[in-house]
Amino acid sequence: MIYEDLGIPTLINACGTVTRLSGGRMAPEVAEAMRQASLACVDIARMQAAACRVIREATGAAAGIVTSGASAGVLLGAAACLAGLDPARMNALPAVADGRCEFIVVRSQRNMYDRALAVAGAGIVEVGIPDRYSGPGVRDAACWEIEAAIGPRTAGVYYLAGAQSRPALRDVAAVAHAHGLPVLVDAAAQLPPACNLQRFLKDGADLVCFSGGKAIGGPQASGILAGRADLVASALVQMLDMDVYDDMWAPPAEFAALAQLRGLPHHGIGRSCKVGKEEIAGLCVALRRFAAEDPAARRARWQAVLAEIVRAAGLDGLRIESGPVPLLALDCGSEAAAVALARRLAAGEPSIACAPGRREQGVLVFNPLALNEDEARIIGARLKELVA
Ligand SMILES: *Cc1c(COP(=O)(O)O)cnc(C)c1O
Repeated sequence: MIYEDLGIPTLINACGTVTRLSGGRMAPEVAEAMRQASLACVDIARMQAAACRVIREATGAAAGIVTSGASAGVLLGAAACLAGLDPARMNALPAVADGRCEFIVVRSQRNMYDRALAVAGAGIVEVGIPDRYSGPGVRDAACWEIEAAIGPRTAGVYYLAGAQSRPALRDVAAVAHAHGLPVLVDAAAQLPPACNLQRFLKDGADLVCFSGGKAIGGPQASGILAGRADLVASALVQMLDMDVYDDMWAPPAEFAALAQLRGLPHHGIGRSCKVGKEEIAGLCVALRRFAAEDPAARRARWQAVLAEIVRAAGLDGLRIESGPVPLLALDCGSEAAAVALARRLAAGEPSIACAPGRREQGVLVFNPLALNEDEARIIGARLKELVA
């Protein structure tokens, strides 16, 4: 076992597919695809073209590529919006020579992943006062505020998809499109439901990115960027190794927009987001499996894991909450008790990581995404021992 070899203890991850805890598990079919991909070499642009066909099928997008994660998808998507199909603009990033260098972002959607916009070279213009969150008011940003912020420096609108996100994406896209501007959507963790693979694009997103290593079950360092063919092609060419001669390079048909380039750019701003053939192969297989799985069967699988924790623990105060992913909540009575229990779970052998995001309400959460039933039994037994 490689982890013994490296001298690293494994842990039980009931926190969800967080990057800090190495994401989740890959199905054997996904790991096998990566293994097979590692055994021969291919043209990486053709590999992305094959992924494009798989992503098109799953998302309904005109085009798609595999990225090294959703964060990379935001960076590459922003680079595409900033540079379009102009190799001079690509070469200049993160500097933008003329005006179009800013993304409009609704203030309540600001988050630490949006710095990927800045990495590509974009500035952020915030709009709206989210006083329904701060308490004294009832509003969030309105579409007219987004429209009022559009000017000659605007390159696009960034949108964080989520249950709380306002205004509705459809309305934001209508305003942006009326001004010829693209909308870039971060939907990293908005799966399941699987219909979200298509929903944001149907609602008007020009580009949408997802994490491959969350519920899709792909390689931890993978993601998807899908949407308009010209923008996806621009994103791709800004990620690829471009140490090539013009007369020896031709883009695959899936990225035909690249034939419009007046010359080839050098390594782009996205070169540090490279993905290997193994990640591309793994993501393709995982995405097909995720899109094909019956949502009720998927939910039943997760419910069974949580039910196993409940059964093995036999405690009051444990309840299964429904949502896109069902969660198990344990009411510990106070924040101090929740923190103490989380620490003891983490300090045990094997270490158990739960989700502490609701500790202020005295609640610990157990997420089934990265768990199997054997681990569920261990968690249940440990809870029984520690709480009793
Ligand atoms: C998880 C997450 C990301 C980062 O995704 P990676 O695939 O790890 O790069 C970005 N944005 C949001 C909203 C996320 O939840």
